[in-house]
Amino acid sequence: MRLGRERSSSPFRLYQAAVEGSAEYAGSGICAFCRKATDGRLALSVGADVIYRCTTCEQPFSVRAEEHDRRAKTCPHCGMVDDGYRLGDDPAICYPCLSSGRAALTKDTEFGMVTWSDAMRGRTHGVPGLARTQPGFSLADPDPDGWVAVNIPPNVLLELVHTPTYRTYQGVEWLFCCATAMLYCGEWTKTDFINHKTGDPEAVLIEVFEGTQPWMWNQVPNDPQHDTGWGFYVFECELCNRTRGHFDMT
Ligand SMILES: [Zn+2]
Ligand SMILES: [Zn+2]
Ligand SMILES: [Zn+2]
Ligand SMILES: [Zn+2]
Repeated sequence: MRLGRERSSSPFRLYQAAVEGSAEYAGSGICAFCRKATDGRLALSVGADVIYRCTTCEQPFSVRAEEHDRRAKTCPHCGMVDDGYRLGDDPAICYPCLSSGRAALTKDTEFGMVTWSDAMRGRTHGVPGLARTQPGFSLADPDPDGWVAVNIPPNVLLELVHTPTYRTYQGVEWLFCCATAMLYCGEWTKTDFINHKTGDPEAVLIEVFEGTQPWMWNQVPNDPQHDTGWGFYVFECELCNRTRGHFDMT
């Protein structure tokens, strides 16, 4: 299902599309953390971390959601074992429990993967051979395998991992602008291209989506119900109003 851009009632600043279309959306039920019944929940599956704050040294640490119920919650800073609680099968949480930081959802970005631990360190996991980044960010030295991490402030990356993830065919690639994360606005259909700017929509395609060619206009869905097997994922910069996107196909 495609959900076009709508300035929705999303409680997540970075996720301006309908949360019902997110990769983690799990419908109504009981939040695995706060036990409240809620209309919309987000699944904690592969790539999700549960965040603990050590009761002894007060440092935060993460436990992978898929291992949560069968693993000791040992603080990596002081070695104290936290009792933890059971998440149960197919755990899902309410939106406030994600945005308040009780869980984190690993994000792929244009500068590499970001887990909660990466976010805390203020750097991405890196991209092999990355040679440049954007103004406001800096490159770390390559690791022995040639992966180059990008230094991005922890507050930017933490907000990102406390945000739902959009669905794609080939993989998420969260975009940045003006030294911060862009706002995800959904998938574009032909109408969105035409409304974006007067003139040639094929020129808009090439301007907004890096790597596109004019013939790809024919792959843009006519409307949210039209499935061409191609996705055009759009972001906006809250600071400079720039629109950028990436695309993929089945
Ligand atoms: Zn909750
Ligand atoms: Zn501790
Ligand atoms: Zn990492
Ligand atoms: Zn910008």
